[in-house]
This record gives sequence, structure tokens and C-alpha cells, in this order.
Amino acid sequence: MPLKLSSQVIEIPRIGPAKAQYLQKLKITHVRDFLYTFPRRYDDFSNITPINKLKPGAKMTIKAKVKKVESNNGWRGRRRMLRIFVDLEDDTGTLNVTWYNLRFLQKQLWQGRELLIAGNVEENPLYHKQLSTAPEQSQTSKFRMRSPVIEFSNNQDPTHAGRIVPVYPETYGVTSRFLRYQVKNLLPLLNSFPEYLPSEIIKRNKLISIHEAIKQAHFPSDLKKLNQAQKRLRFDELFFLQLAALVRRQTRAEQQAIKIKVQKKTIDKLINELPFSLTNAQDRTIREITKDLAKSSPMNRLLQGDVGSGKSAVALIATKATLKQKNKVLYLAPTEILAHQQAELFANHIPKDQLSLLTGGSTKREREIINKNLNSNKAYCVVGTHALIYKSISARNLALTIVDEQHRFGVQQRKALQERSKTPTVPHLLSMTATPIPRTLNLTVYGDLEISVLDEMPPGRQMVQTEIITTANKEKAVTHVLEQLHTGRQAFVIAPLVEQSDKLQAKSAEEAVVEMRQYFPGIAIELIHGRMKAEDKQSIMNNFNAGAIQMLVSTAVVEVGVDVPNATCMIIEGAERFGLAQLHQFRGRIGRGEHKSYCYLFPSTDESANNERLTTLSRTTDGFKIAEADLHLRGPGEIYGTAQSGFNDLQVASLLDYDTIKLARSEAEKILTDDPELKKYPILQKKVEQKNLIAHFE
Ligand code: ADP
Ligand code: MG
Repeated sequence: MPLKLSSQVIEIPRIGPAKAQYLQKLKITHVRDFLYTFPRRYDDFSNITPINKLKPGAKMTIKAKVKKVESNNGWRGRRRMLRIFVDLEDDTGTLNVTWYNLRFLQKQLWQGRELLIAGNVEENPLYHKQLSTAPEQSQTSKFRMRSPVIEFSNNQDPTHAGRIVPVYPETYGVTSRFLRYQVKNLLPLLNSFPEYLPSEIIKRNKLISIHEAIKQAHFPSDLKKLNQAQKRLRFDELFFLQLAALVRRQTRAEQQAIKIKVQKKTIDKLINELPFSLTNAQDRTIREITKDLAKSSPMNRLLQGDVGSGKSAVALIATKATLKQKNKVLYLAPTEILAHQQAELFANHIPKDQLSLLTGGSTKREREIINKNLNSNKAYCVVGTHALIYKSISARNLALTIVDEQHRFGVQQRKALQERSKTPTVPHLLSMTATPIPRTLNLTVYGDLEISVLDEMPPGRQMVQTEIITTANKEKAVTHVLEQLHTGRQAFVIAPLVEQSDKLQAKSAEEAVVEMRQYFPGIAIELIHGRMKAEDKQSIMNNFNAGAIQMLVSTAVVEVGVDVPNATCMIIEGAERFGLAQLHQFRGRIGRGEHKSYCYLFPSTDESANNERLTTLSRTTDGFKIAEADLHLRGPGEIYGTAQSGFNDLQVASLLDYDTIKLARSEAEKILTDDPELKKYPILQKKVEQKNLIAHFE
């Protein structure tokens, strides 16, 4: 049977089950996957260098003939090792080359055979020592190569050397050489790949055809062609990401939600009841949300606002608007502390009989009352933790769900929250995050959501002064914190671990407490950590809130949401162990009141003071700048799962490539405006449906 794009790899001659398993690690299961596994990088071996022009330290290609072959079967430690010593010569000189453990090569290297080899040029130590511990090579050359790539020549179209050579992602049992060989053989099957991009898009953006792009991406004829190929493939990946996001948005527009029609003057009145006047950003966001709520299709809006930007007030107004119409609201918080805090805040503004708190600690009786209220006809809001998404909870006329710190919940949990609705309508969803999201991700990973940004802080906020503290200036920092405590301010200390660990040399919170008690005699210091009982945590937080505890030593539990405006100092132990976004979150706990605040980063060692994350943090307090820096330092994959978007394996494109993202989005919008169901483009439609670029190729 002739091979097809849809054939399994095992159908390829000389690929057996073992190889197929190795290939699976590279997600290569079908023939088409070979063609869509693109090189990680390229080695430019297109220029052939004469042997007498080789330069040590460079990657170079030579074309030469075999002059002499010797081999030696020896031992390296306990392992047998075959070494093949070859002298190659061209018109200009001789080069010593060694290969290790390549038994098959022995039979291939006969005197006079012409080869291309490409690899690192090294100084030959034997040349200088003129020692001859190795078997007598007829001539010791000045330079040498070890394990270079080899290509037997008399080939018009070389694969491994003498050209720009693709270097593939490798895994155990699958070499780049093997992949090059397979891809080269399979490339002719490309002919059954149809061109799927509409010709206007190709023309408008001066793209090359998909055939040409795939071919050139694997075996570029020159750098210009390679660039064109990458441009086309990058565009494709981002274009489909956009198309999928916009189609998801369309699908949502077809769902039914409960319309929340509240007049502008009612909203104004609700706003006037707040103890402060809104920032412009808060006001704008509230208008965006109430406009969405008034629609008959469900809102799916992501509210981004740095810590302290006042997301709670926005959530409160949305909640009150919904309650006005006698509907239900569920507010999901990631931790008990936050759920308590939010419920307390809401309790200042919402009548008692319309509000409850639900956590893992709620009694059966409390749960029953809550469920009864949720199924009544009255206005009702429940603030809670994960306990909210249990199957036993159901709500009638559930009009609005709010998820605070949405990145702390999985897709499944957010979905489960929506499913608490007993009515056939889909609740409006307001997700909130304090992690600022770089604009490129707003357009891709979050491309199907509406986005609001609180890019303005409430008035009177002061910049938190941030310093990296080494041994030399530790005393000064400690003294300063002590002064702050003596004037009545409070402090946080964050440590990476709860207990001392032998494996990680990080300071534990328990150790930090002991140390802080020495540094700060007479100060009320307490420890809080994630493994404590909920009520113990709550009581410590209450005491810290009330000022009875002056210094709170903690692990990452205070990461989100805690609001104690009197706290002006923060010490972060082992600071280089935390991620940039996380450090920024910690720091957001201070600088919330009228007093100037100070954040001291204590690296584990003085050497780690140069850490790039710490320097970035000490230089800026702008969450969006920090998010961009984080994205560059870590790469998007690690921070944000792109799984929900479907086309989750961007190979060629980058989530940092704003220009192409914008372009792809506007092209996707054009197509969908014109043809929302992609009827004219069945192949595009199939790709979007299957969330895959190639799965359907026969
Ligand atoms: P976050 O966005 O981190 O959830 P919060 O909603 O907790 O922020 O607000 C942080 C603090 O700022 C709270 O103490 C809140 O009362 C206060 N705040 C919010 N909005 C304003 C405003 N417009 N003017 C003054 N203070 C505000
Ligand atoms: Mg908050």
C-alpha cells in the first residue's frame, strides 16, 4: 500500500514498533506529523571550506576524500567503545576525524570515497604535543573534528551537510539525522496537501504557498526562502488560533443568558453608595460590564487589575445590579481567607438576608439553608470557596458568576461553577485576575474573552520602594523595619517553605520566625501557613487585621487578596526562588494605605542578588511591564496553558509576536464577518472544528 499522509508511522518501511514508540514522544504518530515537525534550528553548512581555511571554534563543512581509515576497539570505563579514526583530504590539506561507536560507518568509509562532513572545528591536541597515544594516524593535522555530521556526496541535493541543515527536536531513540532522512523521503506526499488559505489572504500578505513553505522550512534553499517559509507558517498558526477564538465567541453569542436590565441611574446610585469615588478605570469597567449584562447572550469578561486596583468594588456593583432584579449570584474565591474577606466586604453593602458565606467548614444545616435560598425566588448571593462548585449546590435564576483570581482555578472548576445553574440559561461570567496579562496573550490565549483592564490605582497610593538586600546592608534594612513597627506599622515576612528541608537549602517559615524574633525583640510575631487549620488561619488573620499581631511570617498563603492597609513592610526570604509574577503579587500586599511602604528582597545568598527577576522587580511596580518581562524570561508556555485554545502546539509562531497576532486577528475577523460559518472554506472549517492544523489530511 502506498504511503499516505494519514498512514501510521509504522507503515513506513524500516520503522518498527520500538521506533514508533520513541516517535510518539515527539508526537509523531502519522506520516503527516513528520512534515509538521519543524526544525528547532538550522545549521548553515551551505558553504564548503577548504581544509587549510578551517577555523577552530566554528561550525564548518568540508568536502573531502577518505585517505585512510583505522579503528580501535577499546574500553571506556566499563563500556566498550569503537573509535574510527579517519584522515580526510582535499586539495588543500588533511584533517583528522574521529567517530565513536558508529559500527555501520566502518563499511562505508573506503579509501577515495568522497564525503561532506559538517561539525565543530577543534584544535588538535596531538598536533601540539606531537604525542602518539592514538594509533598512528599517518599525519597529525592541526585541527580535528569529532563526531561530525556526515553526508556521502555525489548527491545533487544533500540532506545532512553542504546546505542549510535542519536540526530537529530530538528524543531518546530519535536523532535529527533520522528525522532529516524521513522528512526528505516523505516530502513528495505534500502534493496531496491542498492549499487552504483563501487566495486573497495569500495575496494581501504576500505569503508563499503551503507546499513551498513546508518544503523550505525543512530544507531551505537559502536564508531568504527560509524566512518566507517561517512567515507563512507563523501566520498559519496564529491565524487558526484567532479563527478558533472568534468562532468560540460566536458560539457563545448564540447561548441564552438572563438579561439584567438595570437603568443607568440605578447604577449611578449604587456607585454613590460606595465610601469612595471610583477611579476612571473602575467606572469604565462597570459600564462595560453592565452593558454586557443587559444582553441576552452570556457575558464572558476577564477583568485584569493589579493588586489593589479595586476589583472588589467593580464586582460589588455587578452583584448588586444582579440582585436588584431578584436573581442569584455566585462568587468563587480561591481560599477561605479571601472568601471571608469578600463576604465581609459584601456584608457592608448587601442586606443580610441576601448574602451567605459557604466554605468547606460550613455545617450541613448551613448548606441546606443556602441551597434553599438559592432555589427560592428572591435575590441571593453566595460567596464561597471550592465548596460552591459541589454537585449538591444548585441555583435557580443563576444570572451571574464571579471568579476571583481566576488563574487559581482549572477550566473544569470554572465550568462546574457555571453548571450550578438549574435554569436552562447560561450565567454571565466575570473572571478577575490580579496577574496583569501582556497584550499579546489577551489576543491569543484569552482571544475569545471580552477584556477590561483596571490600569489606574485608587488615589493616594504610593510606590512601594523595593530593594535587594545583601549581607552588607541587612542590618540597615532590619533597623528600618523595626522603626516602622515602632511607629505602629505592620510587616509581612514571606518564606519559601513551611518547614526546614534537607533537600532544598531554602529558609523555612519556621526558621524565619525564630530569626525574626531575634531581630525584632518585643514585637508580636506570628506564623501562618497553608497546612494550618482554617479556623487557626482565620484567627491569626483577624489578629493581624486588628493590629494585635505586628509581624506576620508566612509561606505563599498571603499571596492573594489580603488587605491590611497598615502593613508597610515586607521581607521576602529566599526571594530568588519565587517567580516574578508571584513576587509582584506578594508585594501588592503592602502599599495599600496612606503610608509609604518598603519591600526588602533577601536572596538566599549574596551571589543570587544578581537574579534578573529581582532586579526587574526592584526597578518597576508596573504590573504590565512585569508581566511582559516575565513572559520574556520564562516563555509563555510555562506561565499560561494555551490548552484551552486548541491549537496548543505553536511550533513556529510566538505568543510574543504582536504584529503577526494582530494581522492574523484582522484576517480572521474579515473572513468571519463575510462568512460566519465558513461555508465557503470547508477546509478552514474542518481545521477549526478539530482544533488541529493537519489531523484531517488524507
Ligand atoms: P483588588 O483589585 O486587589 O481586589 P481591592 O478591591 O481589594 O483591590 O481594593 C483595594 C483597596 O482599595 C481596598 O481597601 C478598597 O477599599 C480600596 N479602594 C478601591 N477602590 C477605591 C477607590 N476608587 N478609591 C479609594 N479606595 C479604593
Ligand atoms: Mg481582590
